[in-house]
Amino acid sequence: MPTILLAEDESAIAATVLYALRGEGYAAEHVLLGGEVVPRLRQGGVDLVLLDVGLPDRSGFDVCRDLRAFSAVPLIFLTARNDEVDRVLGLELGADDYIGKPFSPRELVARVRARLRRHANEGQAQARGRFELDPDGHRIRYDGQALDLTRYEYALLAELLRRPGAILSRAQLLDRAWEAALESGERTVDTHVKTLRAKLRAIVPGSDPIRTHRGVGYSLDVD
Ligand code: CA
Repeated sequence: MPTILLAEDESAIAATVLYALRGEGYAAEHVLLGGEVVPRLRQGGVDLVLLDVGLPDRSGFDVCRDLRAFSAVPLIFLTARNDEVDRVLGLELGADDYIGKPFSPRELVARVRARLRRHANEGQAQARGRFELDPDGHRIRYDGQALDLTRYEYALLAELLRRPGAILSRAQLLDRAWEAALESGERTVDTHVKTLRAKLRAIVPGSDPIRTHRGVGYSLDVD
């Protein structure tokens, strides 16, 4: 049974959301403050985060930035402010989805379910040559050692790992690894490939499994 963590300071909204989630068979936990989210996530066992943007102690955006530094857990923002700027900012910071208040509990549960399903599907790849993708921990190991990856490095490498040897263009990688590639350009892909290469070399000196296909894109050698 997936566990959903809700960070929401308005008790009426929290009660409605918790009731709806539990009615669908999810385990739902509730915190009131943004500062409680990261410590709870570090304990493990949270499958999805519902994060209110307007929390009393810190903004949901700041909380998102902090948790994305170490976690790829699916995250959906809840916000009363329904304008485009907030939506774009939230997605740029690494949210997976965005629900504007007021929302119906049914809609919220449907979005949660869709997001969890998608996440589970993304996690089906396993050992590929020297690489190993751990779907639960959102980790990738290289020669048995876990890579310490940012969210986008993880998404980029996972995408290349899904089809070893296949050449993916920068545009394809942007499209798949950056769900919210609104502001990002194709150079973003190059930048992340560069940091990924450094991390791979740190594990196996001299190795360079990511191939550049000039003017075309990148592919990954897994053996
Ligand atoms: Ca609030």
